[in-house]
Amino acid sequence: MKPTFTQLFRQRFNNLVRLDRMGVPDAKIKDALRKTQMEGLPFIYGSFAIMFFVYAAIQQYLLTEIGQPVMVAVAVGSGIFLFVGFFILMQGYVPAHHAERGTAVVASVILFTILLRFYYNPVPNQSANVALFLFGAGVMFTSVHWYVVMQALCWAVWGVIVWQNPQYDDWLYFAVMLFVATFTGLVAHGVRLHALRRAEIFRFVEQRQRKELVQRTVQQQTSYAVGQRITSILELDSLLDQIATLIWQRYDAYYVGVFLPSRNRLAITAVAEAGEGVPDSGLQLRAGLKGLVGWVLANGRPLCIDDITRDFRYKVDEKAPNAQSEILLPLKMADNVLGVLDLQSDRLAAFSPSEIPNFQLLADQVAIALENAQLYAEIKRFNQQLEQKVDERTQALQEAYGRLERLDKTKTDFITIASHELRTPLTIVNFNAQMLLEDEGIMANGFYKKWSEGIGRGAARMEEVVQSMLDVAKIDSSSLDLYLAPVDLPFLLRQIAKRFAEALDERNIVLNLDNLPKLPEVEGDVEALQKVFYQILVNAIKYTPDGGEVRLDGRFHPPTKPDQKADGGEVEIIITDSGIGIAPELHELIFEKFYQTGEVMLHSSGKTSFKGGGAGLGLAIARGIVVAHNGRIWVESDGHDEDLCFGSQFHVVLPVKQALQEL
Ligand code: ADP
Repeated sequence: MKPTFTQLFRQRFNNLVRLDRMGVPDAKIKDALRKTQMEGLPFIYGSFAIMFFVYAAIQQYLLTEIGQPVMVAVAVGSGIFLFVGFFILMQGYVPAHHAERGTAVVASVILFTILLRFYYNPVPNQSANVALFLFGAGVMFTSVHWYVVMQALCWAVWGVIVWQNPQYDDWLYFAVMLFVATFTGLVAHGVRLHALRRAEIFRFVEQRQRKELVQRTVQQQTSYAVGQRITSILELDSLLDQIATLIWQRYDAYYVGVFLPSRNRLAITAVAEAGEGVPDSGLQLRAGLKGLVGWVLANGRPLCIDDITRDFRYKVDEKAPNAQSEILLPLKMADNVLGVLDLQSDRLAAFSPSEIPNFQLLADQVAIALENAQLYAEIKRFNQQLEQKVDERTQALQEAYGRLERLDKTKTDFITIASHELRTPLTIVNFNAQMLLEDEGIMANGFYKKWSEGIGRGAARMEEVVQSMLDVAKIDSSSLDLYLAPVDLPFLLRQIAKRFAEALDERNIVLNLDNLPKLPEVEGDVEALQKVFYQILVNAIKYTPDGGEVRLDGRFHPPTKPDQKADGGEVEIIITDSGIGIAPELHELIFEKFYQTGEVMLHSSGKTSFKGGGAGLGLAIARGIVVAHNGRIWVESDGHDEDLCFGSQFHVVLPVKQALQEL
């Protein structure tokens, strides 16, 4: 709907009269206007001084009026007076708040001249000058108040002159003219003032925006720089130092400090500081719990203080020497206040509350950095503790290992000595047993024969054990001598099998050799390899209940390119039994010397009888020999159970060719 004329008028009028100050205080606008007025004032003085000199000349040479000499003198005097004023104003000695008075002075001088001339020639048309003044003075003042005073003065004197010279009819006509001049002058004055005020407001707003823009840019740059450091520096001290320096440089603060509380929160110290305000002593500022820093830490809220000395929480200890104003921001993570970011200035009111959100953003970043660095420090500490523990444990392990090694050496030494020492008496026992067995008289006696055979068997068994001990000692001291020759493993296995024929028969165990294929010969020591398979077969028979089965399998593994060690390929022999099996956790242990499962003392003495006795050396010797041949040996079994009999499967892998240097 189109607005009516009245609405339109009201709207226009409101626009003209009302002024949106946009948050700029009235005092500030007035100040600015006075300043502008003061800036123009010397030129008003100067130009009117010239005008008065010109007027004096006109009076002197062109006009012939009553009071001419006085008028000339007054004009020259006014000119000189204004010129002196011009000079003083130009020096800038007069403060801006005298601008209105200074204007009033020049206006009064002009008015005086007009009225003086009027006084000497009180004819109505002289009123034109008064009218001109009424209108013109409007642009000289920036306050309505002073302008109205000047107008009133003007009217008053004009009134007196009219009253004293009532003989003219034209007075009325000129009164109307003066009235029009007053009114239009006032309107012009108002409109001008309004425009000036508006211009000043815009100037302030623009200044404010520019400042905000600069601040925001600085804030963003600082945030960015802080962010970069947060991701790149994890050491707490150096990080906080860098952040403090950065904020100080960017914001041109007098002092920047990052205050952190002690563990018990009873003391607060500046852990990072930057700026001119940092005490020369190098001592960090300490904040009191009741001071400004303590207040922010306790309340988790920011503070912006124009004059710190006037604040009831002011504490000299926590301030840089010349600090005057301050902004303090809590370093917060969720509800937890970790510390305080403190910016101090040596100027009063250097920070404004409107800057708090920007600074708080920065403080939040610092808080993140702080938490990151604290976490990092914790992880580091934890790592160090862990490393120390690992070191301690490693050392303990090394010591234990050393002890074990020494023990093992003692054991090997003992085996070596014992086996050597046992050998001589054993040979004697053996020899004597043979003598007994060969003696016909003794053989004829049933009792003697039985005992002599017993002695012979025992001595032979003992010799085997001593031999095993010697073998182990050799393996341990790496002095096993191997005499390499091509060995046909299936043939060797068949030979060994023959030695068990009687035992197998006795125990009703089937030894299945049917799956043994023809295999390439391997380079090896026949005697040693014989021991390996003999031992495995003895065990297979020993740990298989009567009526069970032992099976031998063999396969050839052709060479694979990357395996340089076995460039002739490998032969694998698998000995499977249907015996009591071996628990998985013992699969490695059984290859250790003297390791036996079950109760040693319960073993029966027969070599191939079910769970018969043994010294626990068989598999250790077997592994020693296989390894000396650059081979591998291992066992597979689902577990140990004497009723279910899961069985065991021993694998022996030997290279076809031996690498010479490794023997
Ligand atoms: P031992 O002289 O006791 O047989 P070995 O070194 O030959 O010593 O064997 C170590 C242990 O491994 C044996 O005591 C036995 O418990 C276990 N063992 C070896 N072979 C077999 C097998 N075929 N079945 C079940 N257990 C076995």
